[in-house]
Amino acid sequence: MQRDYPLERVRNFGIIAHIDAGKTTTSERILYYTGMIHKIGEVHDGATTTDWMEQERERGITITAAAITCFWNPTYATGLKGPDGKPDVSHKVRFNVIDTPGHIDFTVEVKRSLRVLDGAVVVFDGVAGVEPQSETNWRYADESNVPRLCFINKMDRTGASFEKSFASILERLNKHAIRFQLPIGLEGEHNGVVDLLRMKAYYFDGEKGINVREEEIPANLVDDAKKYRAELIEKVVEHDDVLMQMYLDGKEIALAELKKAIRKAVIANKIFPVFTGSALKNVGVQLVLDAVVDYLPSPLDIPAVKGINPNTGEEVLRHASDSEPFSALAFKLQNDPFVGQLTFFRVYSGSIEAGTYLYNSSTGKKERLGRIVRLQANDREEVKKVYAGEIAAAVGIKDALTSNTFCDEENPIVLETIKFVDPVVSLRIEPKTKADQEKMGMALRKLGNEDPTFKISSNSETGETIISGMGELHLEIMVDRMKREFGVEANVGKPQVAYRETILGEAEAEHKYIKQTGGKGQYGHVVLTLRPMQPLVEGAKIPKNVSRYDDFEFINSIKGGVIPNEFIPAVEKGVHEAMDRGIVAGYKMVNVSCELTFGSYHDVDSSEIAYKIAASQAYQDAAKRAKPVILEPIMKLEVLFPDKFMGDVTGSISSKRGTIEEMTERGQAKVLHAKVPLSEMFGYTTQLRSMTSGQGSATMEFDHYEVVPKNVEATIIEARK
Ligand code: GDP
Repeated sequence: MQRDYPLERVRNFGIIAHIDAGKTTTSERILYYTGMIHKIGEVHDGATTTDWMEQERERGITITAAAITCFWNPTYATGLKGPDGKPDVSHKVRFNVIDTPGHIDFTVEVKRSLRVLDGAVVVFDGVAGVEPQSETNWRYADESNVPRLCFINKMDRTGASFEKSFASILERLNKHAIRFQLPIGLEGEHNGVVDLLRMKAYYFDGEKGINVREEEIPANLVDDAKKYRAELIEKVVEHDDVLMQMYLDGKEIALAELKKAIRKAVIANKIFPVFTGSALKNVGVQLVLDAVVDYLPSPLDIPAVKGINPNTGEEVLRHASDSEPFSALAFKLQNDPFVGQLTFFRVYSGSIEAGTYLYNSSTGKKERLGRIVRLQANDREEVKKVYAGEIAAAVGIKDALTSNTFCDEENPIVLETIKFVDPVVSLRIEPKTKADQEKMGMALRKLGNEDPTFKISSNSETGETIISGMGELHLEIMVDRMKREFGVEANVGKPQVAYRETILGEAEAEHKYIKQTGGKGQYGHVVLTLRPMQPLVEGAKIPKNVSRYDDFEFINSIKGGVIPNEFIPAVEKGVHEAMDRGIVAGYKMVNVSCELTFGSYHDVDSSEIAYKIAASQAYQDAAKRAKPVILEPIMKLEVLFPDKFMGDVTGSISSKRGTIEEMTERGQAKVLHAKVPLSEMFGYTTQLRSMTSGQGSATMEFDHYEVVPKNVEATIIEARK
């Protein structure tokens, strides 16, 4: 069986945006123009296709990253016809569109999808320009080197400004953003765009603007178009020596040559083309799709993916080629109302066929891969075989988690996993009835498998179940999903901050655990020193006697076998496990370095358990004297509000132990940038709304941990009792 699409005609891309910028509307237009849906659902009537989870519909935000497959024939937009006079379909391109959420609590979804995307279209609100979430997501995309196109949407809105929005991209995101278009008319008058490469105007006619009409540039825009085209060319030739020479010699450069150079520069993250229009008023989206084909990478254009051979520990590479051994990454689990559990995966190399076995190198388990599907809006297309560079979903795989690697068992590889921040908010959850109790465990487990930033634990003393996540809304949605998808009703407690503990000083402690009362006794004896863990120096090798984890380091400095090697792991384990409960208020202890310096043993009585107990006791003793403190999550906060509420807004931040870092302006509104402890921020959205008569809005994301002040520490300890 052959692949049905050559790889250079595949685009895996995502649409990234601040909430409300118009991502859902744009996705909807894409599905319409690519013929996937025949009726456009608008967000405001709650019938869009990508938002198929019920509560998303109610909330109007997209929570889940759904991968949708569709086909785009770029010639539709430019009006080119084949020899038979019909649209030329020989250049049809397969799009795998990955939707990403805009809400800050769901950044994990954005990160996760960035991992499997080859490129992205970043959508901006043409009134607000760059917003906080656009900045955060832009940074994530920078980290993953994802090439980007920008789409300044909503040119039809009152107050829309292409120039201001473009300036905010230059200023806040990247100075290599380049105008590729100009809007024709603004606000109510907006009806088309000028393409600066072709130097033509485009208008959109027919049902939902499906037909693209090419015209001459309106007279009032000719001068601007000339000026900005010159600027565009100047910036593009910088990245291509041959074109640069032609430019300097004053020669005209052919469109195809220019496009080639642009494509190269975009893929290298050197330039970011900026497009514009109005998704809602059907202006411009098709031209952005053309640009996706022209400038965003195919799977062939991205570097080989890296991984580790789990048998040898060596780094291995996989290229986007059907002839290499199979490798794929599971990036999303989703419960589909019709076919059940879907495991979305991206194939990096080789191919996999339905009806064979799927080897999971992250777990070492094998499962039968019964069916493979591609999601097309709400339809599911059965696929027999998936090839390198493609995205699809496996049906009914039971044991795979997000970020597991699937691969050829003979040529094993574990792909780099996605790193997530620990959850910062938790709450107590209690099933309403006995029947709920039975289902709740299963429901929580499923949700936890889908989302690595959603954690479930139980309090060993009270037996209560605690769920933790990235924010209040995140947890609220999880509880809601539990009810809707699994029929589990639960009572929830107040949101609590997930505090941490650490030590600021150094201390040594010794503990002997001895039981010698007839028969076989117990003997464990350790001396250890605790210190704050230091960050790893870049490029430094970790010495053989050191085990290093994210939050803990263990140094074995035992000389002359005073503790036999076989007991050292028990000492490490004793300390690491004891760190689950901190000294000050029982919160998880982090960033501790423990050096085992001395001890002794007994020929008969020494055992792993004795060393574990001794280590745990010594650790607790040392930690008490090593200046233990509580750490609290500090959030980065942006509040947008009309000037007249200045006093109230700044006052409220100061009263919350916040530090105001900067005050900027966005359009008519003020933007306050601050750092505030999370513990002070519960219910802030509601408070802000009433303080500003509904005109203020805030976004918040985790920034870092900080030591809590002594008076606050006392309150936390009191509350824990
Ligand atoms: P998302 O949160 O980024 O997915 O944004 P949506 O697509 O849900 O859009 C948010 C709101 O903006 C909805 O009410 C849309 O109807 C509206 N909207 C989206 N695109 C446009 C546009 O081009 N012009 C105008 N005026 N409104 C738009």
